[in-house]
Amino acid sequence: MSETENRDYHRRGFGLRQEVEPELEAHYRNALVDWICAHGHILVAGDLTIRLAREFGFCYGVDRAVDFAYETRLRFPDRRVWLIGEIIHNPHVNEKMLEMGIGFLFGRYSKDNGYKAVEKEDVVILPAFGIPLEDMERMNRIGCTLVDTTCGSVILVWKNVEQYARDGFTSLIHGKFYHEETMATASRAIAEGGHYLIVRNLTETEMVYDQIRNGGPGRERFLEQFDQAISPGFDPDVHLERIGLANQTTMLKSESLQVADTLLKAIRDRYGAEHLAEHFRNFETICTATQERQDAILELLEAPLDLMLVIGGYNSSNTNNLSRIAATRVMTYHIESARGILPGNEIRYKPVGEKDPVARYDWLKEGPLQIGITAGASTPDSEIGNAILGIMETLDLDLPVEVAEAMTDPSGKAT
Ligand code: SF4
Repeated sequence: MSETENRDYHRRGFGLRQEVEPELEAHYRNALVDWICAHGHILVAGDLTIRLAREFGFCYGVDRAVDFAYETRLRFPDRRVWLIGEIIHNPHVNEKMLEMGIGFLFGRYSKDNGYKAVEKEDVVILPAFGIPLEDMERMNRIGCTLVDTTCGSVILVWKNVEQYARDGFTSLIHGKFYHEETMATASRAIAEGGHYLIVRNLTETEMVYDQIRNGGPGRERFLEQFDQAISPGFDPDVHLERIGLANQTTMLKSESLQVADTLLKAIRDRYGAEHLAEHFRNFETICTATQERQDAILELLEAPLDLMLVIGGYNSSNTNNLSRIAATRVMTYHIESARGILPGNEIRYKPVGEKDPVARYDWLKEGPLQIGITAGASTPDSEIGNAILGIMETLDLDLPVEVAEAMTDPSGKAT
C-alpha cells in the first residue's frame, strides 16, 4: 500500500497554523535576530561586530515539518503521538517535542520504543527527510494515523531515483549511507526494481571512477569497500553500466559538482562521448535552501572576520557542510546550540571532521572583534539570539540602547 492509499494519511496539515502560531513564535523566534536582519544583518556593540549570514536557520521544509507537528498535537489531544526519530536534527526542537508529550520511536530521545510501541489508535509523524518505503509499509500495516512532513525537495529526489530505476539506470547517490534521507531515497530505487550505490566523498567517487574505467581493484574489493552502501545483489560489473546521479539534498554543492564531473568523465572514457546519454544521467538534487545557505556563508566570508560561529545539530548534514566551508577560511566553532557557549570564556564545539565536541577556553579575545554567524536549516532563531547574548555576556557588553528598546517594544516588532 502506498502513502496515499492509507485512508488516515495526512500531508497537508490540519489548517491550524493560526492556532499554533503563538507557540511557534514563542519557542523559535527571536526579537534580537529580527532586529539584526532588519538592520543589514550587522550588530555593533562596543568593539564587537556581529555579522549574520544573509540566509541562515530554518528552511521551508523544516518550518513546515515543525508546524505540522504542533498542529498534530493540537488536532489529536487524546491520542498518543509519535515521531519515528528526530523530526529535524536540532536538540532544542526535539526537546520541545518531548515537552509537548510527543514520543520518539528511535534514536537518542526514544526509550528503545521501536515500532512495537505503535498501536492502531496512535498517530505517527514522519520526519522532513522522509522514511524508507519498508517502514512506510510497516506503518500502513499497523493502520495508525500518519502525518507525513517529508519535504517536497526530498520527494523530488525520490521521483528522479524512481525514474532512473524504471529506465534501467542505477542510482548513484552522493550522500551518507547512514543518513535517514539517503536511506529513504535508496529504498525508492529498490522499490522500482532498480539498484543504488552511495558515495560519500571524492575519495569514494575516485574508486567508482576506477571501477567504471578499468575494473578498479576488482569486483570483490569493490563490494567489500561499499558493503553498506549498495543495494542487495549489486554487481559492479553490471550495475555501473548505466548510472543516474542524485544527491542527498544537504550535501556540499561544490563536492556534488565534482562527483558528477568525475563520474561523467569515467563514463565518457569507457563508452565514448557519443554514447554518453545511453549511460549517464544527472539531475542535481541539492535543495534551494541548502544552496542559499552555502552561497550566503561564502559571501559572509568575504568580510574581515576573526572567527565564525556555526550553530546546528552535530548530526545535521547541512550544518556540518557550512562548518566545512567556513573552516577553510577562518577559525570556526560549530556549536550544537547556544548552550555550547559557557561562562568563563569557554566554548564547547565540534571541530570540522571530528565526531565529538571539545572544550576551548579564552576563545573570545578583548579588543576589536568581528564574528560571523550562521546556522543550519534546522536551527531556530532563538538559538542564534541566545548565542549572541552569550557572546556579549562573555565580553561584558550590553546591547546598544536602540536594540534593547526595540526588543522590549510592546508591538513585538523589531523597528
Ligand atoms: S534542507 Fe532542503 S530538503 Fe531538507 S527540509 Fe530543508 S528545504 Fe527540505
